[in-house]
Amino acid sequence: MNMEDYRGVWVFIEEKDGIVAPVSLELLGAGKWLAEKRKTELAGVLIGENVQELAQTVVEYGADKVYVYDDPIYRFYRTESYMKAMLACVEKYKPEILLYGATSTGKDLASAVATDLPTGLTADTTQLDVEEDTGLLLASRPAFGGNIMATILCKKYRPQMATVRPKVMKALSRNNGATGEFIHESIPIKEEDIRTKVLEIVQTTTQRIRIDEADIIVAGGKGLGGPLGFQVIHQLANTLGAVVGASRDVVEAGWIGHHHQVGQTGATVTPKIYFAIGISGAIQHIVGMQNSGLIIAINKDPAAAIFQAAHYGIVGDALTIVPMITEAFKIA
Ligand code: FAD
Repeated sequence: MNMEDYRGVWVFIEEKDGIVAPVSLELLGAGKWLAEKRKTELAGVLIGENVQELAQTVVEYGADKVYVYDDPIYRFYRTESYMKAMLACVEKYKPEILLYGATSTGKDLASAVATDLPTGLTADTTQLDVEEDTGLLLASRPAFGGNIMATILCKKYRPQMATVRPKVMKALSRNNGATGEFIHESIPIKEEDIRTKVLEIVQTTTQRIRIDEADIIVAGGKGLGGPLGFQVIHQLANTLGAVVGASRDVVEAGWIGHHHQVGQTGATVTPKIYFAIGISGAIQHIVGMQNSGLIIAINKDPAAAIFQAAHYGIVGDALTIVPMITEAFKIA
């Protein structure tokens, strides 16, 4: 592999229903900084159906050029079709660095592409840097349960690829009317070549909540024990007309969706009242809620760090205490 052939920083642009995913805009912001350090260009790779107009958005958020694969075959994200387009683009134009959002789509595509290229992939990064002279990407991520930050390098192969967590990079402000280059690409691909068939799209019925605008948040953590125990959080929140919040561990366990997550990689909230129930008080959680007006913590461990941030604390079993509070508010 001739490393000199590989130039430029690329971002996979994730798009749904004609809207660019926020993480892709964040990565354009980070990618611009990396590209400037390397004195090279920033490009977006946009794959979808009827995405021409979005290419302009990509330029307005910092890209110098956009590789566009626009075809009805890309109407829905499917690993095989997107992977084939991305592989063709990489083989033809040879980027030095290729970034994807660590979303379900980005993680799936990046790992599929990595299996077909003679290079590696750093998953779930939270910090990026680049060595100006060598172009070596310094991709850092928490390791060993978040106790250390590991910086992972891909010294001998190109492109250097990483998935990056949403909400850790900053998008640039939109530069309306910015100009860039659009390169329209296509590959010979037919519906019969793709084994995955989309039979039906079922829309989720859950309403998207704006947790950062809530006056009262009832947030639950791993201490609730499971999705069943977490119901006490919903019941108290319903009674108070509050929004449900959660720690990242709860979101990762799949008890509730990501838009309920509070903290460093979730929402930053400042409600009038914040209940932290069965939440240990890790710094990554505290930074997202510490400016709440009144913080009430419930935890069975009197030494839990959450009590340091709380105005009021109750030491005890949340599964007993929370239903009692809910009943008390119902009577009141
Ligand atoms: P645990 O730490 O397991 O705590 C559970 C708590 O419940 C304990 O204090 C326990 O005493 C208590 N408990 C147990 N049983 C009961 C009971 N019956 N009644 C009452 N209390 C009980 N975390 C976030 O929340 N938000 C983020 O945005 C976030 N971003 C992160 C970013 C990075 C880079 C890293 C490395 C980590 C991040 N984390 C984040 C994770 C964070 O470090 C913690 O792992 C997480 O907050 C812990 O979640 P928890 O408090 O629900 O679980």
